[in-house]
Formats: sequence, C-alpha cells, structure tokens
Amino acid sequence: MTSKMARQGHSDSTLLLDAALENIPYGFCVWSSEFKLVMWNRHYLDLYGFPADSVRDGMSLDEVVKLSAELGNHPDQTPQQFLTAYKKELRANRQGLRYKSRELLAAGRTVETAHVFSPGLGWVVTHEDVTEEIASSEIIQKRRRELERQNIRLDAAVNNISQGLCMFDPKGRLVICNAPYARIYDLPDEMVKPGTPLEDILGHLFDTGMHSSSFATREQYITWRHGVIARGLHEKAVVEFGTRIILMQHHPMKDGGFVSTHEDITEQRQQEARIQHLARHDALTELPNRALFLDEMADTEAMIERGEKVAVLCIDLDHFKSINDMLGHSIGDKVLKQASARLWGTTRETDLLARLGGDEFSLLLRPIDKPSDAAAIAERIVKTMTSPFSIDGHQIAIGASVGIAIAPQDGETTDVLMKNADLALYRAKAEGRSTYHFFEKEMDAAIQKRRSIESGLRAALQLNELRVVFQPLVGLKENKVTCLEALLRWRHDGEDISPAEFIPVAEETGLIVQIGEWVLREACSAAVLWPTTARVAVNLSPVQFKNKRLFETIHSILGETGLPPTRLELEITESLMLNDNEQTLQTLHRLRAIGIRISMDDFGTGYSSLSYLRAFPFDKIKIDRSFMRDLESRGDSLAIIKAVIGLGHSLGMSTTAEGVETEEQLRAVREQGCNEVQGFLFSPPLEAGQVLTLLNTEQRPKLRAVS
Ligand code: C2E
Ligand code: MG
Ligand code: MG
Repeated sequence: MTSKMARQGHSDSTLLLDAALENIPYGFCVWSSEFKLVMWNRHYLDLYGFPADSVRDGMSLDEVVKLSAELGNHPDQTPQQFLTAYKKELRANRQGLRYKSRELLAAGRTVETAHVFSPGLGWVVTHEDVTEEIASSEIIQKRRRELERQNIRLDAAVNNISQGLCMFDPKGRLVICNAPYARIYDLPDEMVKPGTPLEDILGHLFDTGMHSSSFATREQYITWRHGVIARGLHEKAVVEFGTRIILMQHHPMKDGGFVSTHEDITEQRQQEARIQHLARHDALTELPNRALFLDEMADTEAMIERGEKVAVLCIDLDHFKSINDMLGHSIGDKVLKQASARLWGTTRETDLLARLGGDEFSLLLRPIDKPSDAAAIAERIVKTMTSPFSIDGHQIAIGASVGIAIAPQDGETTDVLMKNADLALYRAKAEGRSTYHFFEKEMDAAIQKRRSIESGLRAALQLNELRVVFQPLVGLKENKVTCLEALLRWRHDGEDISPAEFIPVAEETGLIVQIGEWVLREACSAAVLWPTTARVAVNLSPVQFKNKRLFETIHSILGETGLPPTRLELEITESLMLNDNEQTLQTLHRLRAIGIRISMDDFGTGYSSLSYLRAFPFDKIKIDRSFMRDLESRGDSLAIIKAVIGLGHSLGMSTTAEGVETEEQLRAVREQGCNEVQGFLFSPPLEAGQVLTLLNTEQRPKLRAVS
C-alpha cells in the first residue's frame, strides 16, 4: 500500500499508526496550524478524487483547495470563497471541540467532515461520505411526512363523516372511534380511549338509558348486543334506544375484529312518518284523505265478506260554493274546518271520517246492526250542520246532504259502495238538500240512462238526429199567429227523447252551447221564409250566457240568415236572472238595443221573484203552463194569472199564457186581458213544412173556431 503518511522519524509505532489510519473506513487528514497538509490517508484521496501523486506532504490548504476545485468539488462556491470560510471555521475551532460540517463534492456526493484541534498537531479531520445516508434519510422523512398527511386526512375523514364509526380489535377493545360515535351514544372522554372494552361501552349505554325498555339487566342487554353484532356481520340492524333509532352496520375484519358504522336515523324516520301522514291526510282539516279512506274501505271488504253490515255515507255541504265565491277562500277554509270538527263529533271510535276533496266528506260506519243505525247518524249530521257557523263576524248557514249505501245489500266492494252512496247523495241534493237518502236500485238505472243520453247527445248533431219544430203563439187581438216558438226535438234509436230529459244533460255537459247555436240558425233560416208579421221565438239556456261572445254569435247568425232582429224573440228563464250577473244584463241590453225582443219564460215557477221584472225591461212575460193546468182546481192560480197580467200591463210588457188546452182556460186568460196564447188548443209544435202551409194559406181552423 502506498501510505502517504508523512512524519518525521519512522518508527514501529508510526508504522502501526499508518496501517491503522489506512484501514479506518473514513478519509483522514491533518492540517497544521499553518494550514499545511501534514498527514492523510488513502480514503481521503479517494473521497476528493485526488490522484495519488497530486498530494504532497506540506502542501498548503490553498493549493489543496485549488486542486479540489479543479476536480469539481465544492461546486457551489469559488475556491476563494471556500478557502476564506474554511479557514475562518478552522481558526474558530481551536478550543479542541469537535465540529462537524458538510461539503458538497463532485458528482453530487456529500462528505461530512469532523474537526478536532490538537495544539501540538493542528486540526485532525475525518471525512465521511454521507451521500447515501442523506438520500435514505430524505426518503424516510418524505415517507414520514406523507404518512402524517395521510393520517391527517384520515382523521379528518373519520371525524367528518356524519355517521359514527368505531373499530374493535378481536378481543373486543376499542381501537379507534370518531366524534359522531361518541356523540350518538353520549360517551364520556374516558369511554372513547383506545383499549376501552366493548362491554364497558355497552354497560354505559345501559346505565344511561340508551337501550330499549325490554332489557331488565345490563347482562341481558350486553348479550343481546353481542348477538346483534354477530348477526350484523351479515346485515343492517335498526335498533331503537328509548326515543332514538340507530341504524348499525357491522363489518368483520380479517383479524377477527370489526368496524361498525352507526347512524342516528330518528329524524329521518320522523320525517318519513310525517310525509306518510301528509300523503294520507288532508292538510286543511287533518282528516284522512281519499287515499286513506279507500284503503280502509278495501280492508273493510273482508268484514263484509264475513257477513258484517257496514255503511258508507257520502256527505256534501250545501251551498258551500257560493260561500267560497261570496266570502272568499279563507272563510271557506274556516267553514270546512269547523264543519269537519262538527262531523267528527258525530262519529264513534271505530268509524272513519275522511275529506275526499272540496266540500265532500265520507264516513265509514263499521260495523252497524241495521240500516236505521246509519239513518240515525245521517240525521245527526244533517242536524248538526243546520245551525249556522260563526266565522269572522259572519253568521254562515250551510247544511249538509247525505247519501247512504249499506253493505252487503247495496254492494260489497269499495267501488260499488262509493258509487251508490254518491247516487244516494245526488238524490238527497235533488230533494232540496239538508236531508239524507238511502241508495235505491232505480237510481242506478236513472244514472245509466243519463249516461247514455250524454254519449248519444254528443253525436246527435253529426248524425242529423236533431230537428226544430215550431209552436204557434196566437195574438188574441190580432186573431192570428204572431210568433212561433222554436222547440228542439231529438229522435234517437227510433225513440223521441223529451227536451225535459236531454236539455239538462246538454246544459251540464256544455253541449247546449253548440246545440243552441244550431237551433238559432235553424229557426232564423226558417223564419225568413215566413210572412213578415210572424216572429220566431228561440229558447236560450243560462249556460249559453257564459259565452262572452253570445251577442256577436247571435248578431252574426241574423246577418247570415238575413232575418231582421225585430223578428226574433229570445226566451230566457228566471234562473238566468238568479245569477244577477252584470255581464248577462249587459248582453241582454245589447240584444234588445238592436231590436231583438226578450221574453221571460215560464214565469211564476222556480223563484217567482217579481224583482226580476224590474231588473230588466222584458218585452214579454210567458206565464208558466202549470197555472193553466191548475186553473180549475186551485183558486189561487187565477189570482196569480190575473196579477201577472196586471203587472205586465203596468210595466208595459206583453203577456202570453202557455199551455192553453181548453176553451175554459182561453176564456179565463182572455178575460184578464192576456195578449197572446200558446197551447194545444190552437196547435201542437209543427214541422217546418207545416208551418209554411199554416202561415201561407191562413188555415187557422181552431182560431176561427174560438174567435
Ligand atoms: P218551454 O220553453 O216552456 O216550451 C214550451 C213547452 O210546452 C214545450 O215542451 C211545448 O211542447 C209544451 N207545450 C206547448 N203547449 C202545451 C200544452 O197545451 N200543454 C202542455 N202540457 N204542454 C204544452 P217541449 O217542447 O217538451 O220543451 C220543454 C222545454 O224544453 C221548453 O220549455 C224549453 O225550456 C226547453 N227547450 C226546448 N227546446 C229548447 C231549445 O232549443 N233550447 C233550449 N235552451 N231549451 C229548449
Ligand atoms: Mg220557451
Ligand atoms: Mg215556457
């Protein structure tokens, strides 16, 4: 080996030292106090990359540094900078203390130097290559930092999930749990420390009442919970703790421990229950709604099958719509609330009262002994609803009508019973309201007929099943036909259906608008062919007045057919005036302004309010034929006819007596000064062709006979 040890006087001991220095695993050198290199070993040369012969004994530090820099060492400094700093350090290190520093060498290597100053010798320096060490420690540090970051993230995740989370080891000791877990079970700090036995936690839950009431002892409870955990390894468990509901899920771990999640679903369940309630109850009255009622009805079918009697009552408030219209919806709502409270007061615990919608209620009586039990309740309902409601200073009188269907006699299924109770209700309403009615088999037939009328009527116009006939009105002074009333006829399936039957259906379905227009066009087209002395009268339904453009419609039909407005009479009934609608009156005025005559038809029926005659200047009053019918049997009929004719005279309205069938009747109305008569005595309604013959040939045999 080529020892570069340079010492005065070689001796055995120095040889020994040489050998030792050569073999130590670091670089080694000694700088004299004058910064001369006095000793070094091979490792030192290798570390810095000094060729063996480039380093000489007594070489100055300046030279060594220069050489070192040439070899690429200390790349971060100039040789001068390094030298200045190094000398400064060495000088400062004369106290004999060991100090370490690091130097950056060529090829990215780092050497750590340790210096000890020895007064007789100088600075003894060891050099160690720490490149690998630094690299590996950097990796470790980096890993540690990553782990820390991961832990922070995990911690944040674990504590930020809303669910409680805990992990137990195979021996049932807590490994970790999060804040929500502690919160859900209200666990004190000492219970959430790692190592806490599961038993302690379960025991704590028992002690603080966090357990369902069925456990008498702690042990029972703990055993049961262990069972839940064991079972829960495969499934979710919903556990009720007193007032709280917890959803638990246990997941086994390979080592035999488990992780479990815990979610307090109390509020969620309450919310679900609320939604369920809302879906099956009426928000305004809190009563069960139609859906719940029908469900319960369906359940009742089993009772009916077992032979029990059940009653279904359909209840409808009378005049509720007009209260809503007149006093507003907020009062309407209060009426409904009070009404439902009153209805509820009539029920037993086993009965079910529901609001089906609007002012419609339904009551299921289950069971009843006999139909009269249902009648008794219906009577109570009608009675309790007749006393007025006092709402916001208003005294509101409504009342209720009730329809009753009894199972099994009126039906055994929900559908049939509901439908039949509804039919019975319909009848109760027709009978003047504030009453109740049982279902009867014939009601069904009547409804069937009505339905077939409705569907038949829809097609009637297209199928040419409708036609108009004309019944003459005879002027008593003129002694001739002054007017002809257009009357609608429907021949359907080879059968004549009376207008009394189909007109109400046409009105309810709105078909009357289209049909009425057709009648008017037919009537006007026919009338233009007549002598100008004969007018035509057309009946108008109140429903037609809902059409805002009624005036325009009539006006254009007159234009189309060429009939002068003065030859048209329109007959309206008292029910139209009942609506007391500004727009209706305005339309009537506009019609009258262009020369159309307006007649009050069927006067004296219905509402008989004389005030209607003041609301509009009618041209004609037609006295209803019921007075003619009763003329002989009832004394007051003549008195009324007399009064109406007198009234007509004084108001400047002409009067017509309808339904004159006998000479007797004719004489009576003529005596009273009636202007016009209509009835079978003169002529039944005639086909259009017959009318032309009658008017053109002046064939008036009956007229001649009575004149
Ligand atoms: P209305 O307007 O009072 O028509 C008079 C009704 O009395 C007609 O019955 C007519 O045939 C009948 N009649 C005439 N003279 C006598 C008589 O001496 N004795 C008896 N018992 N009855 C007599 P019709 O044609 O069955 O019409 C019934 C109701 O149907 C009409 O009563 C009217 O309110 C309505 N109506 C008929 N056609 C139309 C129409 O085109 N449009 C509208 N909206 N309603 C119509
Ligand atoms: Mg009429
Ligand atoms: Mg009439």
